[in-house]
Amino acid sequence: MSKNVAIIGGGPMGLTFAYELLKRGYKVDLYEKESQLGGMSAHFDFSGLDIEKYYHFVCGPDYPMFEIMKELGIFDKLKWTNTKMGLFYQGKLYKWGGPFELLAFPKANLIEKARYGLHVFCASKYKNWIRLDKLTALDWIKKWEGETGYQKFWDSLFNLKFYEIKHSIAAPWLWSRLARVAKSRKNIFQERMGYIEGGSKVVIDKLEDRILEMGGRIFLNSPVEKICIADKKVKGLVKDGQLVMCDSVISTIPIQYIKGITPNLPAKDRAKLEELDNVGVVCVIAKLKQQLTENFWLNITDKSMDIPGMIELSNLNTSLKDHILYVPFYLHKDNPMYQEPDENFINKVSQYIHKVNSALNKGNIIDIRVFRYEYAQPVCTTEFLKKLPDIQSSERQGFYIVDTAYCYPEDRSINESVKIARKVVDMIGKADEK
Ligand SMILES: Cc1cc2nc3c(=O)[nH]c(=O)nc-3n(C[C@H](O)[C@H](O)[C@H](O)COP(=O)(O)OP(=O)(O)OC[C@H]3O[C@@H](n4cnc5c(N)ncnc54)[C@H](O)[C@@H]3O)c2cc1C
Repeated sequence: MSKNVAIIGGGPMGLTFAYELLKRGYKVDLYEKESQLGGMSAHFDFSGLDIEKYYHFVCGPDYPMFEIMKELGIFDKLKWTNTKMGLFYQGKLYKWGGPFELLAFPKANLIEKARYGLHVFCASKYKNWIRLDKLTALDWIKKWEGETGYQKFWDSLFNLKFYEIKHSIAAPWLWSRLARVAKSRKNIFQERMGYIEGGSKVVIDKLEDRILEMGGRIFLNSPVEKICIADKKVKGLVKDGQLVMCDSVISTIPIQYIKGITPNLPAKDRAKLEELDNVGVVCVIAKLKQQLTENFWLNITDKSMDIPGMIELSNLNTSLKDHILYVPFYLHKDNPMYQEPDENFINKVSQYIHKVNSALNKGNIIDIRVFRYEYAQPVCTTEFLKKLPDIQSSERQGFYIVDTAYCYPEDRSINESVKIARKVVDMIGKADEK
């Protein structure tokens, strides 16, 4: 008799788990608290345009995602664009992202530019990230680029993504981001990024179809209220106040939620979870009457703007009929600003659009929305993997804990969620064969 597996979370990771387990003959039920699948990759109806709540791009080395897209018959939806990057530095827009742009940047001297360029270039070639694991990202940058280089090129980005916790971010987290984007380039002069025609929903929908075809069950509007562990084994979960028995539970929800719904969580896991942190996001998406800049990614280093960047998706996905701009405010969910009314963020974005391109103002915004995700970016500190609870444990047999933090040193992405799910399914399969 095949085992009953309950999967918590209907984002890309939960869906990949369900799909892969069904292929191996397991019985699968998936529980998603929202009324739609997708998690951070979910879409919404933006006055007639079906688009992601949060911006998404694809990079050249995202092989696990390419493999699953091939398997699902949607690989032809993957498209590539030669993109441009910009830097809005203290009130002025500069070209950014290549050696010529760096040389032309007037706000740093030749030594600062050489140190920055060398660091970014060498980081993209570096393979042994474990050697960086005891080092913070800030120390690593300062070692290569010096204090002034750090201040000019990085400080604002770290401040606006991690605030006071910026000092604890591990070097490999930054390294993996630099390397991923660098490996996606056509050459050192030309950046190249990918996107999915139709958005992440194309992958989410296809996974859903396959899961249902193979007999899996998906329960929407179904927040799991409790995970039941007794005698060191998982017994099931509670949904709508009812106990649902199963052989295994795989949680793919942000690990910060686990403490609250698992009363008998082993003390060792609880202690580890207490120490982990994750930053939320308030993301504004605007439909504009005209292009803001020519850049897909615009880094912002401007004291009057509390954002690390602006992402103009329509400069990546040029088939979009509208000009689509995302503006993320990374904020801890306990930061009072996270709870501020949408209007405050919308007003800021209206001002920022005008700052970056004075030809645009509030009147150029056709539509604008605000989305929030409480746990959008794991705070990856030094030697991070040791700080995570084990995925499986003899103290809670059958209960698997995994989320986007387990991508480390890679940054969270759909690709990484697919990769982890496949790896853990292999692990489960091997354990069950014994
Ligand atoms: C601003 C932003 C930009 C991003 N940019 C990119 C990008 O360019 N490229 C890229 O590849 N990725 C990007 N990502 C990341 C990508 O969206 C995520 O890595 C991916 O969606 C993670 O999928 P997941 O299934 O692991 O987790 P999640 O997407 O977090 O899914 C977890 C699911 O669990 C559900 N859940 C939570 N609690 C419960 C409960 N108690 N019971 C049942 N269900 C529950 C949630 O509703 C959610 O659907 C971005 C994310 C953000 C926020």
